Formats: sequence, C-alpha cells, structure tokens
Amino acid sequence: MGRAKEHMMMRDDLAGAARGVLRQVGALKACEAHGDLYEGNGDVEGAYKLGNSLITRGEIELNGFTRAEFSELIKDQFEENSFAESCGYCAKNMRD
Ligand SMILES: [Zn+2]
Repeated sequence: MGRAKEHMMMRDDLAGAARGVLRQVGALKACEAHGDLYEGNGDVEGAYKLGNSLITRGEIELNGFTRAEFSELIKDQFEENSFAESCGYCAKNMRD
C-alpha cells in the first residue's frame, strides 16, 4: 500500500474519532435508529478540549498526525454534519 493511501486511511480513522468526540460533547447528535449525525448543541470548543484530553490519555491515537490536525478534523466533521436539523432517514419516513 502506498504511503499516500495509508495516510488517507488513517485520516479517515481519525475523522471517525473526531465524530465520536463531537457526539460525546453533544455538538452533534446521532440518530439511534440510523446513526445519522445532525445538529446538536454546537459545542465545538468543548469537542477540542475533550479531543485533547483523550489524546493525552492515549485513548485517541494520532498515528503521526498533530493535535492541530485533529482539531481541524473536528471542525471539518462538525461543518460537514451540522447542516441537518434531524436524521434525514427519519425525516423522510415522517413525510412518507
Ligand atoms: Zn433516523
């Protein structure tokens, strides 16, 4: 496997960890039925702090990425997932 590909896969793993952190602080909510993420309390600052303490405790492995890059991922994941007000699948089911 090439280094670039490997780097991208590790970035995906970290993006998953970033989403987990956002859910833990409630910045994003996840649908219990579908796992879809949507807008929560918007506490991205709280997510940065929790992310840093999880890194310090070794619960998140950065695999060569920096803390700043991880914070960037938290911000990206928040922006990608916070536009929805509720789970898209649930909203669709209610309309049908
Ligand atoms: Zn749902």
